[in-house]
Amino acid sequence: MKIKENISLKPFTVFQIGGPARFFLRIKTRDELKEGIEWAVSKRLPFYILGLGSNLLVSDSGFDGLVLRPEFSKISIDGNSIITEAGAKMAEVVSFALKNGLVGFEWAVGVPGTVGGSIRGNAGCFGSEMKNHVQSVLAFNANKLDFELVSNESCNFGYRDSMFKKRPDLIICSAYLKLKSGNILEARRHLAEFLKVRGQGGAKVWREFFSEGGNPSSQEVGAKTAGSVFKNVLWARKDVDMERLFSRFPKWRAFENNMGIPAGYLIDEAGLKGTKIGGAMVSNKHANFIINNGSASAEEIVTLISLIKERIHTKFGIQLEEEIQYIGFKNNLPAY
Ligand SMILES: Cc1cc2nc3c(=O)[nH]c(=O)nc-3n(C[C@H](O)[C@H](O)[C@H](O)COP(=O)(O)OP(=O)(O)OC[C@H]3O[C@@H](n4cnc5c(N)ncnc54)[C@H](O)[C@@H]3O)c2cc1C
Repeated sequence: MKIKENISLKPFTVFQIGGPARFFLRIKTRDELKEGIEWAVSKRLPFYILGLGSNLLVSDSGFDGLVLRPEFSKISIDGNSIITEAGAKMAEVVSFALKNGLVGFEWAVGVPGTVGGSIRGNAGCFGSEMKNHVQSVLAFNANKLDFELVSNESCNFGYRDSMFKKRPDLIICSAYLKLKSGNILEARRHLAEFLKVRGQGGAKVWREFFSEGGNPSSQEVGAKTAGSVFKNVLWARKDVDMERLFSRFPKWRAFENNMGIPAGYLIDEAGLKGTKIGGAMVSNKHANFIINNGSASAEEIVTLISLIKERIHTKFGIQLEEEIQYIGFKNNLPAY
């Protein structure tokens, strides 16, 4: 086990922001994960699991504990299921599946994270999500210092949610994913379409609703960002009164048969695209993305997030909720 000290987390996040981890460990095997957690527990240090850093913001002061980065990423096949370790990239699983004649997971090419991070957040796009594939998860229980099997039902998946978000003591090690055998050529066509649409981002979706053509446009491919900052606003939320909103904003009825309203749409409607605080900017292409223009601090990102939340609340009476995760923040910002 090679625990390093004072390692900058900046290069380990897509945002390219954040201070150092006091201790940092790359993990190549499940046993190393166990050893690392045991070490942190014995030293009474907090720990944090870092995937590909595509959905998180690290504070400028970093993390005063042990950051563990699962880099075990073996993928194998068992009938129509894929067994994948947590550190595998979603796109690698897609590619492995297609090479082995299994289809249905092509959508995951749109998620630039690891399997572990994606199970925890029930990542999804193009009408599917991890919930539809996970059969079981092998997790390491940091309280019991032992491995345990978690069924799909026990994962308690919801929109960008799972029980793992409430149980940071459970670290995802591997998973059985259910796929199906099918037409590979057709699946490759889907894949190409997903990649193309991803390049066009939210535009296609919103155009379908408003037929305005060219409303919001694409995601910024290759930008320093953490993807969607906020969750979409679900009608199922207890604090969201659909009918009241429709009477105030009649054109929102276009979203009636959707799960809710895209957060990016609200941010765009509030005229916040392009808003800057220091090096942090609301994307001009996908309004739910914040871009680090190169010099942004975590504090600037957080300030911009607060500004967006405040404007959306004032204008529409809606409280946006973060999809991104915070590491190393104090003052009410959760570490998990
Ligand atoms: C350009 C862009 C586009 C995106 N598009 C989408 C999209 O379409 N749909 C979508 O759902 N998301 C999207 N995302 C967000 C992101 O890719 C997903 O949330 C992804 O699943 C995060 O995986 P990760 O490995 O990067 O996790 P990280 O960002 O490293 O971590 C996220 C959280 O998961 C936890 N975690 C990571 N690994 C484990 C593990 N093994 N066990 C327990 N906890 C773990 C971390 O502690 C952290 O709390 C996008 C991001 C970007 C930058």
